[in-house]
Amino acid sequence: MAGEVRKLALLGASGSIGRSTLDIVARFPERYRVVALGGGRNVETLAAQARRFQPRLLAVQESTGAAKLAELLKRDGLDIPILIGREGSLAVATCPEADIVVAAMVGAVGLEPTYAALEAGKDVALANKESMVMAGRLLNRVATATGARILPLDSEHSAIWQALNGESHREVEKLILTASGGPFRDFSPAEMAAVTPEQALRHPRWKMGPKITIDSATMVNKALEIIEARWLFDIPPEKIEVVVHPQSIVHSLVEYVDGSVLAQLGLPDMRLPISYALGAPERLVLDLPKLDLAEIGRLDFFAADEERFPALKLVRRALEMGDSGAIAFNAANEFAVDRFRHGVIGFLDIVGTVAAVLKKTRPRNFSSLQEILDCDTRVREELGAEMTMKMKTRD
Ligand code: MG
Repeated sequence: MAGEVRKLALLGASGSIGRSTLDIVARFPERYRVVALGGGRNVETLAAQARRFQPRLLAVQESTGAAKLAELLKRDGLDIPILIGREGSLAVATCPEADIVVAAMVGAVGLEPTYAALEAGKDVALANKESMVMAGRLLNRVATATGARILPLDSEHSAIWQALNGESHREVEKLILTASGGPFRDFSPAEMAAVTPEQALRHPRWKMGPKITIDSATMVNKALEIIEARWLFDIPPEKIEVVVHPQSIVHSLVEYVDGSVLAQLGLPDMRLPISYALGAPERLVLDLPKLDLAEIGRLDFFAADEERFPALKLVRRALEMGDSGAIAFNAANEFAVDRFRHGVIGFLDIVGTVAAVLKKTRPRNFSSLQEILDCDTRVREELGAEMTMKMKTRD
């Protein structure tokens, strides 16, 4: 590996994971080169990143953003092609020079580029858990066919990956995902019902984007991570458990058939799992704040409360239903989180929406990307139509 420069394409560059990824890349200019960057609406950040890393290709979500970005680049005398929307993300994901694609977009919109990158035989460092939730079976199949690797970036899955290193898959008894429990771990049902978007956007341990922060507060994030782990490690769902660990120091654990449990520990800093994925099979020498266990003093663990956080129960039903269940679970959540952030529905209605959609979903598995995308679209359209009906009857 020594001496070889890995070329990196990054989707979701201006978000929290994207910025942490570039922080790592900037520390190792002799090992990594950025060839393409895709960002969302934050074009100022993307422009600064383009200035710093000089990629050959840029992508943004909307044409207004593209015009603004072009303007900013021109000021610096930079001339980099800018593509827009779905076409832009797909171009970044399949950029011919790239060996590794960091998929850090938020939500279902990350699925198509992730699929395209794997289909083009590129390793994907995956932070976009929604794509694995929706299409884990299919993505694994594509990766196997092209020889591409799916490298976990999610901190829990990185921990499991590290704890599985050198062990036999057959000797795994179970995977134990840790959950911080979010900001409302001790809230009563009445308090929970009154939670505002501002409250839900404050996470006690991790600094993350808004969608995943709300998913953490409902514990939908942990539910999605169960599905993600199921596919990343090809492990039956009944062998995946959740334990609440408020300090977020133990990132996850693997229990083996002899009763031994291996865990990975570290400060809650996404640069750790990112560097592990980028460096694998080597570890990068990082000068980051170090874990001081004596200073932390204690690590607490609690059983996950499935009555207070029904997302953890619902995800089991979704998994039993197969692909349509997982897709419906994710689509309903994305739809509901957006409505909650706009003040249209309450905090408890997020998981309530997921439950109602699952009730109406027919169990099915899918073998093509199109079927998966269609299923996702159908759920969102039906929810949109229902919401419009409700608004009308209220008027
Ligand atoms: Mg996570």
